[in-house]
Amino acid sequence: AFANIAQAPEDPILGVTVAYNKDPSPIKVNLGVGAYRTEEGKPLVLNVVRRAEQLLINDPSRVKEYLPITGLADFNKLSAKLILGADSPAIQENRVATVQCLSGTGSLRVGGEFLARHYHQRTIYIPQPTWGNHPKVFTLAGLSVKYYRYYDPATRGLHFHGLMEDLGSAPSGAIVLLHACAHNPTGVDPTLDQWNQIRQLMRSKGLLPFFDSAYQGFASGSLDADAESVRMFVADGGELFAAQSYAKNMGLYGERVGALSIVCKAADVAKRVESQLKLVIRPMYSNPPIHGASIVATILKDRDMYNEWTIELKAMADRIISMRKELSDALRVRGTPGDWSHIIKQIGMFTFTGLNQEQVAFMTKEYHIYMTSDGRISMAGLSSRTVPHLADAIHAAVTT
Ligand code: PMP
Repeated sequence: AFANIAQAPEDPILGVTVAYNKDPSPIKVNLGVGAYRTEEGKPLVLNVVRRAEQLLINDPSRVKEYLPITGLADFNKLSAKLILGADSPAIQENRVATVQCLSGTGSLRVGGEFLARHYHQRTIYIPQPTWGNHPKVFTLAGLSVKYYRYYDPATRGLHFHGLMEDLGSAPSGAIVLLHACAHNPTGVDPTLDQWNQIRQLMRSKGLLPFFDSAYQGFASGSLDADAESVRMFVADGGELFAAQSYAKNMGLYGERVGALSIVCKAADVAKRVESQLKLVIRPMYSNPPIHGASIVATILKDRDMYNEWTIELKAMADRIISMRKELSDALRVRGTPGDWSHIIKQIGMFTFTGLNQEQVAFMTKEYHIYMTSDGRISMAGLSSRTVPHLADAIHAAVTT
């Protein structure tokens, strides 16, 4: 039946790692994948995660029963608190429906499916550019995807004017996807003042904010600072969706731990929303996995472990920030033509270098450096050892 099935292309992001793995060169560097690496280039399991896992393993009361459709109750409460703030009025007033989902992607998908089924507007505006999976997730959820201007290649900064104009002309009630912090792939975020203007515009037009929070704490090193955009939209009493991922900030990538929170106007609405989320989830995967959510709940509910986590999280964020500095210094030393100040200014895991597709192909061919074709490099995959090699490659790419 499938003899003539077509070969599908590799995923544009995960495919970079496939190509990297095939390259026998000893000097190869993988700056494609969005996963943290240590200075030695190794994946990192946080100490606090190891500790939590030990506690779980040694607790004989832990069994492997199914979780409810909505996931681990403690995990959901603590996750809402983490993103919305411990003193959030929405939480105190019980107007938040939170469900545990399969990491950030699963949370976006469940939110998208819920909207397609229950919201009067099917159009979702996503930034241009955005994480490559966004348009696919929302299209397959049954929404119609449109773009709003976000990045200005001329300034390598935010296209604020274009963003405001595009959201200003969006149909009333449209859904708007916002990266809570550390916009992927550009590393460009609105300032707090700009966020506030975006908020006012969206509220005045009744646009529905859908926050994607994949990097809380990972961008600035502060969990609170990285959630300010979301909390601003909670403080005005309005509705919003928030998809959270613990992949980066707890290093739980493969455990697939995340949460979708829907902030409603009233407690009874949140209750009914939750009942409908169950109908979305049950036929998709029945209920979510228990292990990763138990790790997160163990850490978030213990003051001591929570503090240990924030220290380890900040160390990851700081290492990334120091890689920005080292790369920018290395280009300055080489006298590489062009303005590279955006390497320092951009935020989060990635630098959107501004290198074009040919330059990227050149760097891969001649220097065995792997990255997505849009010129995005993962700063978390760099180390003091590999920075000079990358700087040489960039220098050669822009001068030859
Ligand atoms: N949103 C954005 C912006 C991301 O960068 C990512 C991870 N690359 C995700 C969502 C989802 O990741 P995960 O499903 O692994 O949590």
